[in-house]
Amino acid sequence: MKGKIERKLKLLARERRAVTAQARKKAFKKKNIVRCRYCGKGLTRQTATGDHVHPISMGGPNKVKNIVIACAPCNSRKGSMAAGTFKELLRKEQAQRKGR
Ligand SMILES: [Zn+2]
Repeated sequence: MKGKIERKLKLLARERRAVTAQARKKAFKKKNIVRCRYCGKGLTRQTATGDHVHPISMGGPNKVKNIVIACAPCNSRKGSMAAGTFKELLRKEQAQRKGR
């Protein structure tokens, strides 16, 4: 019966990609560059990724309004962390770099 579960997971992954693509399209509708929500880096359509603010793995909805534009490094570092936790981590790192 594992085939059934695999199909379901594939379907879910496809849905996630579709919603992420939709969110990116929306973000780039009027501009060519969008900033990463976490580090502020300028991103183009090629480099932008869609990040689920409230991670799906933590019960977040797979909806456009739950997606923000982030750069690939931030997106992969954030992983399944909540957005607030990740922002706090970045803030601490920035403070450390400034030698505070
Ligand atoms: Zn970033």
